[in-house]
Order: sequence, then C-alpha cells, then structure tokens
Amino acid sequence: MSSSQILAISFFLLVLLAFWWWLFPQKNTGETGIFQPAWRFILSEYVGFYNRLQAAEKARFEENILHFLDEVRISGVGTEVDDIDRLLVAASAVIPLFGFPGWHYRKVSEVILYEGSFNTEYETHQGEERNILGMVGGASMTSTMILSKPALHQGFKKNSSHNVGIHEFVHMLDRADGATDGIPEALLQQPFLIPWVKLMHQEIRSIQDGASDINPYGSTNEAEFLSVVSEYFFQQPQLLEKHHPELFAMLEKVFKQDL
Ligand SMILES: [Zn+2]
Repeated sequence: MSSSQILAISFFLLVLLAFWWWLFPQKNTGETGIFQPAWRFILSEYVGFYNRLQAAEKARFEENILHFLDEVRISGVGTEVDDIDRLLVAASAVIPLFGFPGWHYRKVSEVILYEGSFNTEYETHQGEERNILGMVGGASMTSTMILSKPALHQGFKKNSSHNVGIHEFVHMLDRADGATDGIPEALLQQPFLIPWVKLMHQEIRSIQDGASDINPYGSTNEAEFLSVVSEYFFQQPQLLEKHHPELFAMLEKVFKQDL
C-alpha cells in the first residue's frame, strides 16, 4: 500500500471518528417526557416548518422535539425560560436533522438563553461590540450553545429568512466531520462535495459583488455561508428556489429534505 493510500485511509477513519463523536444514530430507549397537547398549539403558532408537514410527519417532528428536550438542558441567564422558548430551541435543532431519522446531537448538552445580544466576553449590558445573537461554545464549553432569546423568537416570525437557532445548529452539523468549514461531509454524499464547494464559492462571489439577496454575513467565510443559506432554505424555501434554484436543489441533497 502506498503512503498516499495510507494517508487517505487514515483521513477517512478520522472523519468517521469525528462524525461518530458529534452525531450518532440512536434508538429511542427509556423515553421519560410526555409531549404536552399545548405544545402542539405553540408549534403550529410559531413554527412554519412544522405547519408545512403532513400529519404523520408532524407526529415524528413532535417525537424528535421530545427526545431533544429529554437530552438537552435549556436555561436562561438574566431571563426566564418558558415552554415557548424551549420549543423554539428544540425546533431549531430538529429542523436541520429532520431528514436523518434517529440522528441526535451527541455533543450538545446545554443551550443557554441570554436576555439579548452579547459580546465575546458574554456581556449583555455593557462592554463593546455586543452584537452576537448566537454562538456554539469555544474550547472550554464545546457542548454549550448560547442564543439571544429575542433573536431566537425573531427567527420564527413569518417572512423572516433569518433564524439564529437554525444557524447555530447547522454549525454543529457542519462541525460533525471534524471541521467547521461549510463542507458538510457528515451529511452530503461524497460525489456532491466538489460541486457544493464550487457552487458555494460562486454564490459567495455574487454576495460580494452585491448581486445577491443572501444575507451578506454569508460571505464572511464558507462556514457562515452554509449556516446563512440554511436559514434561508428552511425559513423561505419557495423564495430560495425561485432566486437560487441550483443552491436550493443542492441544499435539498445536503439535508435530505424536499421542501
Ligand atoms: Zn455563524
């Protein structure tokens, strides 16, 4: 075996290991919670994605919400957390993984809601550049996600193509192959990876040229591009399909969902 073959196999095993560490298929055992009938009303009131599902798929969505709430602690800093907040966090997590039945976020154990936007020092009231709406934990808190509660709610407003919750959970999925690089190797089949990278760079260039309706934040880097266009894909699928048919078709492959 040549050294390049050994290198390729080692790389493949490393990706596989990283993938296993971040996401894993799990049979549902020992379910503890109960899906409250009132939650169904909240989902239909707030979550457009849920409303577009057929009845059987709605039931599967509710099951996934329940699993997520059983596994992940949701707490507030400087703000109360109610059922609506918890369901919006869970919906943000369930939506991007809905095409992968049985898959869970292994590396997310806590989501903390802040009363507003914050900065890199986690300050919400004073300090500079308090413009962060969401982030996934850095070195010391890899299993924690922080979201601004008002931004979380704003994302589920009708006609919004932004959704900070979906944005951050897509970063988690991107990271599942070991690198947060906008190339979702854990989700997308290998033959589509190079076409995806080409399309991504083409779309980033058109944002930079001012010739795109995609949020300019998406041109920051490839990872932000993937998260930003995923928000658009799940929030305004018809609009994305109309304005960016190729990108829309590729995202349907990434997330294994027909929207
Ligand atoms: Zn981001």
